[in-house]
Amino acid sequence: MRRLLWMLPLLLGFAWAAPSWLRWGAHPDEGFTRFVFELPLGTAYETAPGGAVYRVRVGLTAQPETLKLDDAAVERVVLAPAGDGTEVQLYLQPGASAKKPFVLEGPEGHFRLVLDVLHPEGGEAAPPPKPKPPAPIVVLDPGHGGPDPGTVGYVVEKQVTLDLALRVKKILEAKGVEVVLTRDGDYDLAPKGVKDLHERKILDLDKRAEMTNGNRNLFVSIHVNSAERPARGIEVYYLGTTLDDRVLSLAIAENGGGELGVRLTQKAESTAEAALADLIAQGNLQFSARLADVILERLIERTGTTNRGVHSAPFYVLRYARIPAVLVEVGFANHPTEGRLLARADYRQKLAEGIAEGILEVLQNGAFAATNP
Ligand SMILES: [Zn+2]
Repeated sequence: MRRLLWMLPLLLGFAWAAPSWLRWGAHPDEGFTRFVFELPLGTAYETAPGGAVYRVRVGLTAQPETLKLDDAAVERVVLAPAGDGTEVQLYLQPGASAKKPFVLEGPEGHFRLVLDVLHPEGGEAAPPPKPKPPAPIVVLDPGHGGPDPGTVGYVVEKQVTLDLALRVKKILEAKGVEVVLTRDGDYDLAPKGVKDLHERKILDLDKRAEMTNGNRNLFVSIHVNSAERPARGIEVYYLGTTLDDRVLSLAIAENGGGELGVRLTQKAESTAEAALADLIAQGNLQFSARLADVILERLIERTGTTNRGVHSAPFYVLRYARIPAVLVEVGFANHPTEGRLLARADYRQKLAEGIAEGILEVLQNGAFAATNP
C-alpha cells in the first residue's frame, strides 16, 4: 500500500520521465519528504549538502530535466549531466533541511540511498527556535512474569529478567535516561479477571508490545534462553523472518509455546514481512539491527562468553515497534555452567552493565532522535 502511495507523485500530475532509479514521496504526518535513489550495487555516488541546494552525484546517466515539485520540502529537482554521471540538485524550500542520508538494502543487485528532507516548521524561513532536547525514554521489558515463569533450569527466567531490568534501570537512570518498565514485580499484564492462560499470554504480550508506542526512544526485551542440547552464550534479536529452525522454535517458545506460540509467531511474521516492504519500517529495522549489534558487543566484552550473533526472528513482543526494538537472550538457563552463572548476582550485574552500555552508546550518538516525533 505504502509503495503505491509512494509512486503517486510520479503517476499523477507530472509529465516528466524521472529516471527509474530516482523516486520520492511526501510524508506530511512525519514531516519529511523522502528521496530514494535505487542504484545497482557498485554505483558510485556522492552527496553534497549545501544550504539551499542539496546535490547528489550518481554514476548513472539521465535525461537533463528540471521539475517543479508541489512539495513542502523541495521546490524543484534538477538533473544535470556531471562527468560520466548525473548531478541531482534538490532545491530546498526556505526552512527545509536535509538529514544525513543513509543506505538500505535494495532489491536483488541494488542498494537504496535514502535522503529525507524535513519540512519547514510553520513555513518560516527563519531558523526554528532550538527545541530543548527531551530526555531519552527507554522501555525495558523483563520477559514473562506472574503465571508464566518462562524457561526453568538452574534459574527461573521471570526472576532473572526482572532482576536484570531493575539493574539496567538503575544504571541508565544514573545517566539521566528515563526508564519505563513493562513490569516491576512478579505479575503479568493481562487484566485480573482473565482466567485462561493462553488468553492471558496474548493480552500480556499485546500490552508489552504496545508499550513501544508513544513518546519512547528504545525498547529492549530481556529473556533467558533454553535448548534441548544445552548450549551457551548470548544472542540478540530484532523483528524479522527466519529460515533457521532453531531460531523459529525459540520464537515460538517465547511467543507462548505450543499452538498459541505458533499462531502468534505467524502474526509476528506477517508484520515482519509487511515491514520489510515498507521503506520507513525498513529503516527502523536497520536501526534495531544496529542497536542489537551494539548491545551484543558490550555484553560479550563484559562477560567474555560466547557470541551467538544478532538474528532476526518473528518475536510477537517486537511487532508494533516504530522505535528501535530488540530482544536479548542473555544465556541458557539449562546450561550447567551458564545456568549457574545466571544465578549469581555478580554475573547478572555484568550483564546489566553490558545492556546499559549498549543502550547508552546508541542514545549518545543521537541516531534515534528523529525516530521519536
Ligand atoms: Zn523468555
